Amino acid sequence: SREHLAHVARLSTMGEMAAGIAHEINQPLAALGTYLAVLRARLAGPDDRPASPASEIVMRAEEQLSRCSAIMQKFREFGGVEGFKPASVRLCDLVDDAVALSLVRERDPGLRLSVVHSEEPIVVFVDITQLKLVIINLLQNAVDASVARPGRHVEIETTVTDASWAKVAVRDRGDGIPASVRERLFQPFMTTKPGGTGTGLAVCRMIVEASGGRIWHEPSKGGGACFGFS
Ligand code: ADP
Repeated sequence: SREHLAHVARLSTMGEMAAGIAHEINQPLAALGTYLAVLRARLAGPDDRPASPASEIVMRAEEQLSRCSAIMQKFREFGGVEGFKPASVRLCDLVDDAVALSLVRERDPGLRLSVVHSEEPIVVFVDITQLKLVIINLLQNAVDASVARPGRHVEIETTVTDASWAKVAVRDRGDGIPASVRERLFQPFMTTKPGGTGTGLAVCRMIVEASGGRIWHEPSKGGGACFGFS
C-alpha cells in the first residue's frame, strides 16, 4: 500500500541520515582518539613508569571514546551509503553467510551452534547486507546470553509461517529476558551489558520493518530467549 511504501521510505531515509551523521562524527572522534593517545604517551614518560592518576583519566576518556565509535559503527553499517537495496536470495544462503561472517564458530569453539534449515526452499527479497547484520546482531546477543552456561547451545532455524512468511528464529539457553527490560528491548541505547551500546536490537528492528517485516521476542523452550523475525 502507499502508506506502507511511505513508511519504508521514511525508515530508509532515517537509515541514510543516521549513516551520514555517523560518518561526519567519526572524523572528530578519530582526531580525539589521536590526541588522547599522544597525551597518554606524554604522561607515561620515557621509562614506562606506572600509570599516574592523570594517565588513568586519559585511559577512561579513551574507553568512552571507543564506546562512541562502537555506536557510530553500528549506525554506519545499518544505513550504508546506498540505502535500502533489495534482491532475491535463498534464505539458507543468507543465514549461512551471516553465521560465517559473525565468526562465532572461530571465536567461541566451545559453543554448540546448530543451524536448522527448512526443507522447503525459501527465497526472500530483502536488502541482503542489512539482513545479515540483523542475524549477526541476534546471534551475538544469543552468544552473550549463553556465556558462563555449561552446555552452551545456540540454535538458528529457518521456517515458513502459516501466512507464508519466511521466518528466522535465534534461540539461546541463557537466562532469558529480565521482566524489567522486556518492554524496552528494542529501544535505542537500552543495554544491560557493561560494555554494551544498546543499539543492536534497535537497528535490527529498523531494518526488519524497512523490509516490511516484524521482529519479536518470546521465551525459548529450553529457558533462554528466542528472537524471531519474518
Ligand atoms: P547490547 O547487546 O549492546 O546491550 P542490544 O540492543 O542488542 O544491545 O540488546 C539490548 C539488551 O537486550 C541487552 O543488553 C540485553 O539485556 C537484552 N538481550 C538481548 N538479547 C538477549 C538474549 N538473547 N538473552 C537475554 N537478554 C538479551
